[in-house]
Amino acid sequence: MNDVLDLARPDIRTLKPYAHAAWDSAFTRLHANENPWSDEANAVTSGLNRYSEPQPKALIAALAAHYAVQPDQVLTTRGSDEGIDLLARAFCQAGRDRVMVCPPTFAMYGFAASIQGADLVEVPLDGSFRLDADAVLEGWSPGVKIIFLCSPNNPTGNILDRHAIEYLLSGLAGRALVVLDEAYIELAGAESCVAMQSRHPELVVLRTLSKAHGLAGARCGVVLAVPPIIGLLARIIPPYALPAPTITAALAALAPERLALTQDRVRRLVAERERLRAALAAIPIVRKIWPSDTNFLLVEFADAARAYTAAVRKGLLLRDFSQQPRLAGCLRITVGSPDENDRLIASLGAA
Ligand code: PMP
Repeated sequence: MNDVLDLARPDIRTLKPYAHAAWDSAFTRLHANENPWSDEANAVTSGLNRYSEPQPKALIAALAAHYAVQPDQVLTTRGSDEGIDLLARAFCQAGRDRVMVCPPTFAMYGFAASIQGADLVEVPLDGSFRLDADAVLEGWSPGVKIIFLCSPNNPTGNILDRHAIEYLLSGLAGRALVVLDEAYIELAGAESCVAMQSRHPELVVLRTLSKAHGLAGARCGVVLAVPPIIGLLARIIPPYALPAPTITAALAALAPERLALTQDRVRRLVAERERLRAALAAIPIVRKIWPSDTNFLLVEFADAARAYTAAVRKGLLLRDFSQQPRLAGCLRITVGSPDENDRLIASLGAA
């Protein structure tokens, strides 16, 4: 491969970008058909008569500093869900190209592939849910344009070995994009693999403010990739992708004092996770609790339906994976506040 963009759809590479209204705060905006009046008296709607800044410079700079990359390696998206969708659309020709996933993993990768009309190739994680890099290399064939990896993995909870990821990147030698979803990496206390991009330009890393930073409702995801990939995705992302309140919230989350709070909350979540693990382990209906580097636990029950119903009766929702391959009897439990976790423990204890 000469150029990482050789993997992209030729028609997207040559697509003329949609020219949205220029964004320059030095000018009075009589070019975007906005309404001139702002609701100055209403803090919630004030300023929203104007479109938001596309790929806002201040936020891009703050994210670049936070993730230790250059600003031209950053694209902001409406949650990392949108990053997944953009990648499938930019790199897979419908009816021709394929996407590889390593199940059990986050379902959105397969969903985005289906929407795009790209077939799915599955190379399962091994018996301990570890990445089988050799099997991925063997499973690759021309037409597989994207390999999605999730580390730490949802729903299994474990972080993937970074040496296995680098081994895979080296073995692939640029024959496919490797999209590494690090949505939960802060909870693992592990270093991101983003620095590998200097050796492997086909590595794309997805980050989000939805988990450790506690901003799921704001919808701010981040694609970290080499500048040509960022440029390509920027060409197809809808104009003004991030709403103005999201930009404000994301900037606030990246302020130093809020980052200190985030770190403290991560520590508390990890402590709660381990307290929850110990309490669940003592409950007879619990069969196995998988190791977790995230803010959730994958738990196998002797009777998952009974456990699920017991939780629902106490007003608690869990995620049921018990019908999915290799996850028989498993529910995924998000670590809540101490009080929420106590309610869960009591409900399952009585199941
Ligand atoms: N990746 C993984 C592994 C996830 O679990 C989730 C959310 N459940 C996402 C991405 C989507 O996150 P966002 O809120 O940033 O769209």
